[in-house]
Amino acid sequence: MQTDLDLLIIGAGCAGLSLGVQLAKMKERAPKVLLLEQRTVYENDRTWCFWRQQGNFYSDLVNYEWSKLMVQSKKEKVSLDCSLAPYQILSSNRFYEEALQLIGLNPLLDLRMGSALLKEPKWQQGWWYFEADFGQLRAKSIVDTRPKAWQDLKGAKLWQSFLGYEIECEQASFDPNAAVLMDFCQANSEFVGFNYVLPQSEKSALIEFTVFSKQPYLEVDLVSKLDESVTQYIGSQAYKILRKESGMIPMGLATDYISPSAADTHPSYVRAGLTAGAARPATGYAFQRIQNWAIQCANSLAQYGLPANHAKDFFLLGKMDDIFLNVIRNNPELGPALFMALFSKVNSARVIRFLSDKGRLLDYLSVIQAMPTTPFLKDIFKISRL
Ligand SMILES: Cc1cc2nc3c(=O)[nH]c(=O)nc-3n(C[C@H](O)[C@H](O)[C@H](O)COP(=O)(O)OP(=O)(O)OC[C@H]3O[C@@H](n4cnc5c(N)ncnc54)[C@H](O)[C@@H]3O)c2cc1C
Repeated sequence: MQTDLDLLIIGAGCAGLSLGVQLAKMKERAPKVLLLEQRTVYENDRTWCFWRQQGNFYSDLVNYEWSKLMVQSKKEKVSLDCSLAPYQILSSNRFYEEALQLIGLNPLLDLRMGSALLKEPKWQQGWWYFEADFGQLRAKSIVDTRPKAWQDLKGAKLWQSFLGYEIECEQASFDPNAAVLMDFCQANSEFVGFNYVLPQSEKSALIEFTVFSKQPYLEVDLVSKLDESVTQYIGSQAYKILRKESGMIPMGLATDYISPSAADTHPSYVRAGLTAGAARPATGYAFQRIQNWAIQCANSLAQYGLPANHAKDFFLLGKMDDIFLNVIRNNPELGPALFMALFSKVNSARVIRFLSDKGRLLDYLSVIQAMPTTPFLKDIFKISRL
């Protein structure tokens, strides 16, 4: 079987489906697209959080939102008022359902579940030839969203590793009006560790233990820490685990570390998603950035017939994230104090805009001013001597 396609999307997770949705919305002007997804079914495997901001995507689909966030350490506690930009949580099953429905409405898009790419695509005379389990096909362009293995991402400045349980307990233990963004454990020279607690009722919450560190932590390394976190919040009462989620997100990805293959250097082959620069380096947030990319990529396909990469962050933001990651990487014991300074010294609205990629110049200046000068100057000095 030989079928000609305008676009092959490899991997239909968050990035692949988000692009699929934007293309499906083009109706009869959409390119002819095949989405290859190796999973056979979508499960509720993750939740996406973001602050409600103008121009956000899927904000009306969210499961829950909080207008108060807590950031705390053993010594201090800061409450962030986010009533103007509530912190929202979207379960992946809602997103998958919505995306599948929208994609299904356009006959120009074909999503094949349970289909992995069998061999790497080959470029020949203006086409990418590839093989799936249902035959040989060719496409004019490819968007490849397959996540790279963490072992291949040696250039990541820092890793964000986390394990979380969505639990239900017997006694009222949570305040459903306030989420805990960061509850730091003891500062230490190995990692910055904190609990992330998202309660949706007095008896249920997603509790995650998160680590920022030089090397990623596997799920198995985080189990006992998460057990401690659960006990810290609900004591010794019985609880049920309703769902589990885990992740290892590269922060500050050095894409030049990934040895480029022929595919990487051809403008009709674009890598996208979490391991291709989708995540905000200093936070790991990627969901809304993926949505922005999906629009840009769909527009580029419509205008030029070529897919688009993730846009680079503008210079000041990129530099600030880079320096911040260097300081945390080299001085993890300073992590809790640095985050506490950020949240206690910068006005809530400013810090939320900054973290949501919507910062204005004064927001950046306030963030810079809130940071202690010595470790940052040391890092800047180190960089300037390289
Ligand atoms: C548990 C978890 C929680 C997260 N929470 C947040 C959050 O709160 N806020 C936020 O902004 N970001 C969050 N992120 C980060 C980011 O938004 C997600 O990781 C997001 O799913 C990344 O999208 P992606 O398309 O790059 O990867 P994925 O969504 O993982 O999609 C990749 C797809 O490729 C498929 N695939 C792989 N290999 C093949 C192959 N050979 N052939 C065909 N298909 C293949 C996979 O099956 C998968 O469906 C979270 C990540 C995780 C893991």
